Amino acid sequence: MLFKDITIIDGSFTAQKHRYVRTEGAYITYIGTEAPEELPGEEICDGRNKALVPAFYNVHCHVPMTLLRGYGEGLPLQRWLNERIFPFEAKLTPQDIVNGTLLGALELVAAGSASISDMYFSINEMAEALDRAGMKANICHGISSFDPEQKLADLPGYRDTLRLARDVKAGVYGGKAGTGEGSRIRADMGLHAEYTSTEGLVRQIAEAAAEEKLAIHVHISETETEHEACRERHGGRTPIRYMADCGILDVPMQAAHCVWLTDEDTAIMREHGAVAVHNPSSNLKLGSGIAPVRDYLSKGLRVALGTDGASSNNNLNMMEEIHMAAMLARGVTRDANAVSAADILRMATLEGAKAQGRPDCGRIEPGCRADLLVFDLDRPHLQPDYDTVANVVFAAQSSDIVLNMIDGRVVYRNGEYLTLDKERVIFDANQSFRRILSEL
Ligand SMILES: [Zn+2]
Repeated sequence: MLFKDITIIDGSFTAQKHRYVRTEGAYITYIGTEAPEELPGEEICDGRNKALVPAFYNVHCHVPMTLLRGYGEGLPLQRWLNERIFPFEAKLTPQDIVNGTLLGALELVAAGSASISDMYFSINEMAEALDRAGMKANICHGISSFDPEQKLADLPGYRDTLRLARDVKAGVYGGKAGTGEGSRIRADMGLHAEYTSTEGLVRQIAEAAAEEKLAIHVHISETETEHEACRERHGGRTPIRYMADCGILDVPMQAAHCVWLTDEDTAIMREHGAVAVHNPSSNLKLGSGIAPVRDYLSKGLRVALGTDGASSNNNLNMMEEIHMAAMLARGVTRDANAVSAADILRMATLEGAKAQGRPDCGRIEPGCRADLLVFDLDRPHLQPDYDTVANVVFAAQSSDIVLNMIDGRVVYRNGEYLTLDKERVIFDANQSFRRILSEL
């Protein structure tokens, strides 16, 4: 596709007007101020009054939880999990999980996500569903067990993880056969949390992840209660200190929430190159607190953004997280310069792509993957378009996104889905929801 005369947010997260951008296959192949000669059969996008923005990387999600949207409102984290979420989840079949995943995919692509890091179960079915939707995803099974004798190898979630990793490596999801390099779907090792596992299990997960060369996705210090309870259980050690002692940080790590990190935690994570995934909406909605993002960034901690699942947010709209993250960082520090609009956008794109182990994604540069959004600027709330980055971060709505291209393939355009049947997906998801409700 050739985007003509369009405003772009470039690789340094600065707006550049009147640019020409070409994509060929999965890649961006040209960016310039001169119009290149049109190729035969090339699709043209008239970029006047439009902005080309890198697509979003939503680095903490539980996408099938769209089925639980609005179910279990008003409870604190532990009661919400034990009384509502876990009993509902026990009824989910793999087909239900596919139905919830596809419902989430509809929502995700319309609101600008190209990729998610997701922790759930039936991950092989999820991988197929997300691939069908045309999305990228790092998928993991949130492994947990309270049995001190538990062998990791005996857990079905671990076996699912190895199967997915094998498929990825074989090139089933578009990667190079043999290495899986460039695969749209990637397998991560998932550890649900410190409070849902034994030390033996955590150590086995760390070893297995290192051996299989998989990154780890884990919930860390989401609530103060969880953070303090960990200290009591583990001789004063915080969840990060404890995880580091168990070897979890020796592989690349996506650490969801990180609301209550200590200075020592931040230093440990920075040293290991671990990424804190900020989930502002979920943390506010469940009353977990506000992660001090300015502080983390000033200490050199890598920070990405995520929506978390739809039962704790209650949507998968990265535009809201971008807006919320920018507002909160400034509000809590009483500093209008706490985090710039460009920094927030970088967290939602490039930092997320890097956290997923995708070095050629997350920014608009020649040679990078074409994960691109087109925003329609011809809207009252986006005029005048003086500062496009500020417009995208502070003024734009997800409904201003008129195109979502993932790896060079358009999956969403002007409210239409090109990979999924919206009516069918919504119908199937509601069928699953009603059946489960009737069984509870
Ligand atoms: Zn979560």
